[in-house]
Amino acid sequence: MEIAEKIKKLSAHQWGGTRKYQQKNQIKHIEENKSFNEGENKQKVDENKEKERRCPKCNAIWKKKTPTLSQVRSAVKESLLEHTEDVKSISQDSQLGYSGSVATGKVGNPKKIHKGMEPDIRGECGKRYDIDGFLISEIAKDIRPYKGKRWGKNHPDSKELELLVRKTLRLKPALRYMEKGKKGFSIVVYRHEDAHKPVRKGGLIIVS
Ligand SMILES: [Zn+2]
Repeated sequence: MEIAEKIKKLSAHQWGGTRKYQQKNQIKHIEENKSFNEGENKQKVDENKEKERRCPKCNAIWKKKTPTLSQVRSAVKESLLEHTEDVKSISQDSQLGYSGSVATGKVGNPKKIHKGMEPDIRGECGKRYDIDGFLISEIAKDIRPYKGKRWGKNHPDSKELELLVRKTLRLKPALRYMEKGKKGFSIVVYRHEDAHKPVRKGGLIIVS
């Protein structure tokens, strides 16, 4: 073969090789782009899904992640502990705790649409929640039961404690979606022999 011819063939071969390489590379590039775009789109869909979290019961849009149930519980615990002296000044044997949806983590009232769900602690369903305080104390004997419950508001000492704790709870940022005023926090007083009653319902004794 003539040298000139060899060079011609070789360069043709090389050229072809380069072209193939370029084509292959181009396909690879297109595929990479495609999968990148698909990834981007999937991410967008995921973000939209994230934005579209909704309450399964009332269909309210859920966007918030805080406060969490544990942050709410900590704020309640902290508030009750701030009144340890007030509780003990009623009588040394007095104990203060709370029950209800924040204590158990679930709405218990069967009449409520959110029954079985976490209480509306982030305020996204516009439902509000309350804290059911209970006081185990010898003053129970001085309170006449009303429909089986001894309400704290019917004794001057527990009434005062109720007002003080209510004020403290209202100052906690984690509790901003609690019911306002009297609806937000009330106390039921129990005799010592009935102390198991609120506890059995998921109540937590905080000041003991
Ligand atoms: Zn809801």
